[in-house]
Amino acid sequence: MKIIKKILLFITILIVSEISFADHHWKNIEYQTIQVRENIYAMMAEGGNVAVFIGDEGTFLIDDQFAPLTEKMLSEIKNLGGNTPRFLVNTHWHFDHTGGNENLGKAGTLIFAHDNVRKLLSEDNTIQVFNKELPASPREALPVITFSTDTSFHINSETVHAFHVHNAHTNGDSVVHFQKANVIHAGDVWFNGFYPFIDVEHGGSLMGMINAATTIINMADGETVIIPGHGPVGNKAALVEYRDMLVLVLDKLRTYKSQGKPVQEVVEAKPTQELDAIWGDGFLNPDQWISIVYSGLEAPKK
Ligand SMILES: [Zn+2]
Repeated sequence: MKIIKKILLFITILIVSEISFADHHWKNIEYQTIQVRENIYAMMAEGGNVAVFIGDEGTFLIDDQFAPLTEKMLSEIKNLGGNTPRFLVNTHWHFDHTGGNENLGKAGTLIFAHDNVRKLLSEDNTIQVFNKELPASPREALPVITFSTDTSFHINSETVHAFHVHNAHTNGDSVVHFQKANVIHAGDVWFNGFYPFIDVEHGGSLMGMINAATTIINMADGETVIIPGHGPVGNKAALVEYRDMLVLVLDKLRTYKSQGKPVQEVVEAKPTQELDAIWGDGFLNPDQWISIVYSGLEAPKK
């Protein structure tokens, strides 16, 4: 009996300390806000980069990080002169970009995304490479309006065009273009400065990432501000460097694929060795990255 009590006490302490650790973690996070145009801001804390567009017809938001940050995010938006967002676009389904959906949906924000975002959020899901279980989201967290190719918002004297890019970071990515302001939110098509995670379990592919990056590059000019899903706010020149790195890696991996090499052998061959000093110090180490990308690669057609 005493032992059981001790075990129960130990478990309680573990649970309580985990909760207070989590509390402490979120409390200590502060938003860093960068003004990219007169009324468009990039906001960074933890998770995917947020963009907010403020005007007299309403506040327009792109992505919303994690649920425990919603309150801080909203107070930061108020400081900038905005309100609870009228519209929200999710660039894709990942939890570090959609975690605030339920809070915002309940607050009356209308959520937009590609069809597959709603589909993936509606079901129990897993991301096996991270051993992550993602239970189906409640109704309030789901996009209310979905699209298959694109949609446009005509708000605050701006045209905001959200369009789908195929099988890039996931099977449901959107890029968002503020046409007059010349600002683009690339979502997780762009990890600025490091190897990108590609969700090959849910339709992502290296080829799609390259195509999507090229689409954005072709839309951009020297003045375009490009907000990546992760990493610092950037521009066309930085996106070109990243896209060219992806092309180099794809070429190498395709050669291995056509030789039928198993993934472990490819990882051990260190195919990105000369690129790792620049790109390998981010979210994924080079071995993890190669393993994910290679396993999602189709053998080239002969
Ligand atoms: Zn993502």
